[in-house]
Amino acid sequence: MSAFSRLRLDGVSRRFGGQAALTELDLTIEAGEFIALLGPSGCGKSTALNCLAGLLPLTAGSIWQDERRIDTLPPERRGFGMVFQSYALFPHLTVRANIAFGLRMRRLPKEETRRRTAEALRLVRLEEHVDKLPGQLSGGQQQRVAIARAVVFEPSLVLMDEPLSNLDAKLRLEMRTEIRRLHQSLGLTTVYVTHDQEEALSLADRLVVLREGRVQQVGSPRELHTRPANWHVADFMGYRNLWRGRVTRVDDAVVTAESAGQRLLGEAVGDLRTGAEAVLAVRPEDIRVDGAGETRNALSATVEVVEYQGRELAAEARTDTGLLLHLRTERRIAPGDQVKLAVDPRRLLVYPDGPAHRPEDQGATR
Ligand code: ATP
Repeated sequence: MSAFSRLRLDGVSRRFGGQAALTELDLTIEAGEFIALLGPSGCGKSTALNCLAGLLPLTAGSIWQDERRIDTLPPERRGFGMVFQSYALFPHLTVRANIAFGLRMRRLPKEETRRRTAEALRLVRLEEHVDKLPGQLSGGQQQRVAIARAVVFEPSLVLMDEPLSNLDAKLRLEMRTEIRRLHQSLGLTTVYVTHDQEEALSLADRLVVLREGRVQQVGSPRELHTRPANWHVADFMGYRNLWRGRVTRVDDAVVTAESAGQRLLGEAVGDLRTGAEAVLAVRPEDIRVDGAGETRNALSATVEVVEYQGRELAAEARTDTGLLLHLRTERRIAPGDQVKLAVDPRRLLVYPDGPAHRPEDQGATR
């Protein structure tokens, strides 16, 4: 269906007055890919999407669909489908009419409009609701109409800006699967904006992580999950335990770092020398609570807080050296328990410490 084989963003930048919202975004999207733009609030995700859509002019850079420059075209001439957080359906039109609207505007033959509308209704499983008005539908159903409306004219690219954020947790999960299914069955190319790392990991073929308008990392879900490129990305990807230390030894990728008198072995991500200030990062689920007998990266700690979360417990424990760690475990632990923690050195990532935004106090996590 895609009318191009490659979409290329070349140094795409956007400023608002004196403030840079997006700085030199370079990205090549292959036809059929599902790309997630991910990052905290204000990092420039929507700005990037709106630049692609043609809703915002670029301040610098260009966008190319194969050999054709498109950033100078108005939105309607780019032929992209769009789905936003608010469904923006016509309240006085039925589900069927809402979906067919774009096709009518494009003056498609009646029979073709009817056929494509029926197909889109089937895809989003709304056949039973064709004659209802948007006000008679649930939030999830309304978002399905918005998605059907965006894909019904077989766009070369579908842009989605936090389409699930108005839905409750259960619906969000259902619609997530639905969106992935649609992407696959229609062979769409999709760019999807979200601040939810789990949503991005589960949906996308590749993730683009932004921070303060700049790309931090582009990679597969697996790469982002296991090897965030810097500690800001690690922080965003669920490495809840971040603390500072100093490198005392480097053996290729294996480094020894010392923090509050505790020596730990980890994997270096980036250039680290002996004596360098470092940031250590580990996910709560990568800290073992049954670490007794473990000689490497063993930590004695006291459990402080425990939260019940179904099969697992989420807990906070303070090591004897004063480090507060977030854990997840299936073991039944309780506040006051003494525990032996251990971290596989391959799961403890050690980053060079950047000058900006250091984790809070030495030895403490947030
Ligand atoms: P969110 O997840 O909160 O929607 P975002 O990552 O999509 O955030 P953007 O909406 O792209 O972020 O905003 C990036 C930066 O540009 C922010 O600092 C924002 O305040 C600024 N910005 C966005 N739109 C405008 C505008 N129309 N005028 C001035 N500043 C803007």
